[in-house]
Amino acid sequence: MYKENIENLKNDNTTLKELISRSNPENSKMNEMMSTHSVLANTINSMEKRCQTLETKLKDSQIYQTMFKSALNIQCNGCKQYIISAQFERHLMRCKSD
Ligand SMILES: [Zn+2]
Repeated sequence: MYKENIENLKNDNTTLKELISRSNPENSKMNEMMSTHSVLANTINSMEKRCQTLETKLKDSQIYQTMFKSALNIQCNGCKQYIISAQFERHLMRCKSD
């Protein structure tokens, strides 16, 4: 969806540039609009990249969540004890404070 919007904006941008060069190349208002348009297109592009990064992180997190819920016991890397997975988070807080 974002990619489609970005492509549309890029195409609009190209069309606007053509219109400006044909009509009046020194039209400052149009140049200003073009500049704003470019800034907005770049902003949308970086937001799209950020969304993709967050989606990847969310997928990774869901994998770990499934693994955690499927485990009966988890071995603590700090004290090497096997802890019931439901109590592991509480153990980590205590184990770190020791
Ligand atoms: Zn521990």
